[in-house]
Amino acid sequence: MAVIFVFLDGIGLGPSGPQNPLDAPWPALQRLADGQRWTDALQPRFDDRMTVTAVDATLGVPGLPQSGTGQAALFSGTNGPKLAGRHYGPYPHSQTRDALRQHNLFARIQRLDVPFAEPAAFANGYPDRFFSYAARRNRWTVTTRCCLDADVRIRTAADVRTGQALTADLTGHAWREDLGLDVPLRTPTAAGEQLAAIASDHACTVFEYFLTDKAGHARDAERAQRVLCEVDQFVGALLEALDPTNDLLALCSDHGNLEDLSIKTHTRHPVPLLAWGAGATSFAEAAAITDVTPALVAAVTAQAG
Ligand SMILES: [Zn+2]
Repeated sequence: MAVIFVFLDGIGLGPSGPQNPLDAPWPALQRLADGQRWTDALQPRFDDRMTVTAVDATLGVPGLPQSGTGQAALFSGTNGPKLAGRHYGPYPHSQTRDALRQHNLFARIQRLDVPFAEPAAFANGYPDRFFSYAARRNRWTVTTRCCLDADVRIRTAADVRTGQALTADLTGHAWREDLGLDVPLRTPTAAGEQLAAIASDHACTVFEYFLTDKAGHARDAERAQRVLCEVDQFVGALLEALDPTNDLLALCSDHGNLEDLSIKTHTRHPVPLLAWGAGATSFAEAAAITDVTPALVAAVTAQAG
């Protein structure tokens, strides 16, 4: 039994066309969406093993959604932009800190009565310099802040080397080329298999991927294709490794961006929410990104029960 939540930063459902790199045949992404491309033409689908829907990321607040408040909403189920009075990011807004501390996904999972020594896990590994920088400036990302608040271990470069963590770029390429760190190169497929293996030791495992948002800001079509190709292979490996009668894979985003390469900013488009496998029905009523954390907790509770 494994529940995996893959958070893809900056993926919205926008109009078809050459500006939208998601409007292309991505086999694994389409498999998650019952054969459909991830565009604004996506039709909701619900059955025992699948939820395919679009959810709101603007949360009643004007302006363009940002990662700090959007991720607070996604990972705590509280309205981050309303608490902050505006969309804010990329780091957590001070007015969302209490909500993150009390209601974050990891904390909620840790409190459940489930047969795991470490119920919640965050599968991303971070290089040493991230820890020194974040500690010195007290500037943690939303997910690492949630880990600190919930006593969930933040994985390290050593975990990446032993296969107990994934690099944020899936392959390790950026760690080797940009950071000069000695980590193994892995294919996106191997990274997917690795995430499935890590998830088997926990009730709920999260992986965060932000190169989708980076490619959107860069307005770089070639980079967007490369990033989506790797994400598609990664998701394909997860679908192969997981058993839909026992396991659950859920994916969502914090705001749109990549789906419109004609602009370099985030968008107000709805974002895809896809759940595949056991407990997918927990996501059927979701209407906004604030509904994702409660649905994940419900899915884990249902599996444990
Ligand atoms: Zn962004």
